[in-house]
Amino acid sequence: MALRLQSPYSNNHAAWFKGNLHTHTTNSDGNLSPQDTIATYAGMGYHFLMLSDHDKFTDPALLDPCGLTLIPGCEITANGPHMLHVNANGAMEPVENRQNIIDAVNGIDNGGFCIMNHPNWLENFNHCDHKNLEAWQGYAGIEIYNGVCRRAEGSPLATDRWDRLLSAGRKVWGYANDDNHRDWDRGVAWNVVQAEDASPGSIVKSLREGRFYASTGVVIDSIEVEGNTLRVRTQNAQRHYVSSLHGRVPAIADGRNLVYTLPDEFPFPYIRIECWGPADAMAWTQPFLIEKD
Ligand SMILES: [Zn+2]
Ligand SMILES: [Zn+2]
Repeated sequence: MALRLQSPYSNNHAAWFKGNLHTHTTNSDGNLSPQDTIATYAGMGYHFLMLSDHDKFTDPALLDPCGLTLIPGCEITANGPHMLHVNANGAMEPVENRQNIIDAVNGIDNGGFCIMNHPNWLENFNHCDHKNLEAWQGYAGIEIYNGVCRRAEGSPLATDRWDRLLSAGRKVWGYANDDNHRDWDRGVAWNVVQAEDASPGSIVKSLREGRFYASTGVVIDSIEVEGNTLRVRTQNAQRHYVSSLHGRVPAIADGRNLVYTLPDEFPFPYIRIECWGPADAMAWTQPFLIEKD
């Protein structure tokens, strides 16, 4: 029985687009006006940006995009664990029952979706209890890296939560965002998307379907799957971890690029790749589920 890797990526895609989905402005507790925030990210070479003020909709249609693709959004904040509403058309009522919010977002039918934010924030490293992440259905993924938690309490990383969810059979994506509040929060963590074009619709669709990688500095040029073989080409990775069930690491390989072929017998349901680069630069691919022919 042959094993096959199921890839969210396209082997032959048009282009990569880089962007941040978690950005506060002076409309909540960020330090720059919405317009200055957009201009600053445009100057950093980003392609797309989502302004996500706390329980407040900052309408991008009223702002100069400065060449960026602006995705309308909001960070649902009050009354429970924080979550991003991607492709929002207004601020949702932040009701305590987060499942109701997820259902309402999915019911809008405009391609919008929810991301559960910074699960390992706060002194107890538990802003979002894992029981919630397990119980809630219909969210697209979690923040596996949150930039502001680099300097705040808790941990910016939440790949532990991700592996627990993936190991439980949940298909959820890993997002990396700045959660920009201050100058030093910008350009910390981002998502790089395979999309047909830079339109908001194309970028949102790819973000919802897992055609992106998360990064804090490693640049991936291509991610290709053929049968049971995965090839990842990067510009600056130094080592690759093949991560799997409950955090197991079935392979580690040094070098800029990775070629990994599943062994004939592989008892785990998924793999995902961590690309480790210089200093704190990393990239995380989305999971590849393993199918049996
Ligand atoms: Zn938050
Ligand atoms: Zn935030």
